[in-house]
Amino acid sequence: MERKVRVRFAPSPTGPLHIGGVRTALYNYLFARRHGGEMILRIEDTDSNRFVPGAEDYINEAFKWLGIKFDEGVREGGKYGPYRQSERRDIYRKYVNQLIESGRAYIAFDTPEELEAKRVEIANFQYDARTRSSMRNSLTLSEEEVKSLIDGGEKYVVRFLVEPDRDVVVNDLIRGEVTINSSILDDKVLYKSADDLPTYHLANIVDDHLMEVTHVIRGEEWLPSAPLHVLLYEAFGWADTMPQFVHLPLLLKPDGKGKLSKRDGDRLGFPVFPLQWTDPKTGDISSGYRESGYLPEAVINFLALLGWNPGTDEEILSLDDLISKFSFEHCSKSGAKFDFEKGKWFNHKYLQEMNDEQLSELYMPILAEHGHGDADAATVAKIVGMVKSRINFVKDLWEQSKFFFEAPTTYAEKDVRKRWKEGMATTMAELIEVLRGIDDFSSAAAEPIVLGWIAERGYHLGNVMNAFRLTVVGECKGPHMFDITEVLGREETIRRIQAGIDNIKPAE
Ligand code: GLU
Repeated sequence: MERKVRVRFAPSPTGPLHIGGVRTALYNYLFARRHGGEMILRIEDTDSNRFVPGAEDYINEAFKWLGIKFDEGVREGGKYGPYRQSERRDIYRKYVNQLIESGRAYIAFDTPEELEAKRVEIANFQYDARTRSSMRNSLTLSEEEVKSLIDGGEKYVVRFLVEPDRDVVVNDLIRGEVTINSSILDDKVLYKSADDLPTYHLANIVDDHLMEVTHVIRGEEWLPSAPLHVLLYEAFGWADTMPQFVHLPLLLKPDGKGKLSKRDGDRLGFPVFPLQWTDPKTGDISSGYRESGYLPEAVINFLALLGWNPGTDEEILSLDDLISKFSFEHCSKSGAKFDFEKGKWFNHKYLQEMNDEQLSELYMPILAEHGHGDADAATVAKIVGMVKSRINFVKDLWEQSKFFFEAPTTYAEKDVRKRWKEGMATTMAELIEVLRGIDDFSSAAAEPIVLGWIAERGYHLGNVMNAFRLTVVGECKGPHMFDITEVLGREETIRRIQAGIDNIKPAE
């Protein structure tokens, strides 16, 4: 019988969630939704040395911002819980014992010093079929010795007994069938008595089994974990319900080869985390997509296309579009270059799709910061409509529209040199007279009057209009001139032209 699709995203709370992890979660989410399945958020916190306070909250907040909803998890609850591995100790202990009893795992007492000594003695030392008989473990010690060491409080680990020279087949939805010889694997530690916790490998397998996970979609480098996991499923007798593996392509540096890292973000100036993160130890701040002004929809769209395509060249895809089109057939095996310029492009596109009122609501707090919190909402919406095609981020609106709110106090030098020739002040004084005579200052009404005056006087259209713009905007850029003056109104426009006449000095 077909099992209901159940997937999980299983981050370790060792710091802020990397953007690659977000993509992994997104693909899990798309796949689950596409197949009417369920998605779990499981916190893999069994490595107490790497635990970072705040990381779990960060993960939850990031997905909330992105609009990725889990069906089960630490916050959501669910009947397969607890969903935090540190709260599942009793469960793991039982399964560790099961492997020991069936001879698929053994107890090892080797201290870190003893292991280090072996590494020095034997080049490329690996704890495996060739070496385990010369180590201190339950295969080489008698039952009584083992018991007395444990009773005496000696720390131990439980290791998986990997049979050598077996071909292990990993079936991966993206990579196909891959065969790996078991001799390359070491006898991985599954459990540590020191903190009474399993390691990642054991906890991960046991939980995927108990939580009835059908597809393990992960983004990490997949060797040697995947073959080891196949062997673990077999050892537990769970081969029949082993999840389908899907190992996603890596996210690569924007320039050159290699995996995308936090340092690439610092070096090239883009965030590699969904939300801003403050390191609890050092206080260092790493930037986030949210705080950098990205819309969550744009981030989702951008990430979805890093390693997957819809089979067409469509690029703007909403979450619902993505869900209806997602499949692993269109995932690539090779790594996906992290093109952050494309990320900005997506944000630009999503901002254009918002209506002017929505966008002005996002703009209001920025205006307030600049002392214009009292700006009229309808006017702001009109202004936003005029300049939005020029922005990648909401914060860019200020740079593009500040002249609507504040008269220029300086004038761009190169524009002055080009546009403010001898005699222009006189022409602008004449323009003031023309504007004074215009009652309806709307763009449609004012434009033909001003253009008519220019034509009648035989002035050069470009020269006059650019000088006009220079006085009003402070430089020769911005939307249609008469749309600007419509918003400013007659008196303010005239004041600005007069200020230009008084303050702009023609270049030598
Ligand atoms: N806790 C593991 C990690 O964060 C989970 C990997 C997996 O998806 O199985 O890398």
